Amino acid sequence: MARLTFYGGVGGVIGGNQILLEDGSTKVLLDYGLNYSLWRSYFEYIFAEPRSVEELVMVGLIPEPEVLKGLDACFITHPHGDHYGMITVLPEEGVPVYMGEASHRIIDARLKARRKRRFERLDHLTFKPVHSGRRIHVGSVTVEFQAVDHSIPGSYALIVETSSGNLLYLGDFRTHGVFKPRTDVFELALDRDVKTVVCEGTNIGQLCSPLSERNVEDAMTRILSECRGLAIVDMSPGDVDRLRTVCRVASNLGRAVAVTKRHVTVLEALEGVEGLATPSLGKDVLKYEDVEEELRRNPSEYILCTSFYNLREVKALTPPPGSVYVLSSSEPFEEETFIAFRRLQNWLNLLGAEAYHIHSSGHAYPWELRKCLSRLRGLDGLKVLPVHTEHPETFKKIFARFFDVVIPVKGVSYDV
Ligand SMILES: [Zn+2]
Ligand SMILES: [Zn+2]
Repeated sequence: MARLTFYGGVGGVIGGNQILLEDGSTKVLLDYGLNYSLWRSYFEYIFAEPRSVEELVMVGLIPEPEVLKGLDACFITHPHGDHYGMITVLPEEGVPVYMGEASHRIIDARLKARRKRRFERLDHLTFKPVHSGRRIHVGSVTVEFQAVDHSIPGSYALIVETSSGNLLYLGDFRTHGVFKPRTDVFELALDRDVKTVVCEGTNIGQLCSPLSERNVEDAMTRILSECRGLAIVDMSPGDVDRLRTVCRVASNLGRAVAVTKRHVTVLEALEGVEGLATPSLGKDVLKYEDVEEELRRNPSEYILCTSFYNLREVKALTPPPGSVYVLSSSEPFEEETFIAFRRLQNWLNLLGAEAYHIHSSGHAYPWELRKCLSRLRGLDGLKVLPVHTEHPETFKKIFARFFDVVIPVKGVSYDV
């Protein structure tokens, strides 16, 4: 009997997914993510960083090394740290790590760009980039990658065939974005007679403003067309769809787009990846460091894309009164990020800038989850396990009428 054991992404947390699938002697990991809020509870960047793998185990960020002993492969759904962030401490030498081509480019570039701690490694991993539809056979399981829409390129759901039935792991996904996958993963799940679904529930129990990317473009155009100073858009560096939206807004308003370092890392990594239409550096978007002086002289001619409440550029540029700041990512909800955001807001107020929140979620809204998952209700004996949500109980209340909902508990095993 194949079984799933959850070591992260459960217990009311968003992200840090770590799902171990064992089928006879075959052992594979589905995502090996970093639980950011747990990390922040015990550590702090630079001042109180973890010193060893043992410390990570002690605070519960990764399982005991014996759990992953003999691991055959690791499958990463997409290049967000809460899904791949712990791969540098995977214990097995030479373990193949499968992921989409764009995922591989982004993860590789990010891991190389950041300082590694003494106990972190990269050279012991064998990255295996794959394309949508690719089936990987490992021992008694077959893992199939199927592209899904999410707020970063290279996002996949995994359909896993085991000796006791088929499993669908959705990773992070939405259907309201601009990317429309060629294969409908829910249709495929019906075809494959899936028995178990592991589904994200990020937006369950949250106050959602269910905007589309088009709504974001319209609102941004409306607000920024009245802006006489610098326009600052704060957004996630991997969100290429959003960057394309910003480029369209900028071109309509006759402004140029400048991007800061973390955006540059992603754009350089994705250069030349087929079918992504990534904005090109030097043409569609300019590097902030190349135009800093010009931007200071003529702020009304630019949209500056920065990431995560970056005070450094805002202070360095001292935007003139009448400048506009747009938060175009999720709202800060954790104490530490909230404090950083308040600090930025204080500066914006001091400088006489306006601030707006214009965002379309990277995750399925509750109505989308209901629409997608209810299609599977005809599957015999279907069991759905919610992960990546602060409100698994609410998830259960919404979906228990369609199928069996089992709330996974950390360290507990469930039959597939
Ligand atoms: Zn996630
Ligand atoms: Zn994600």
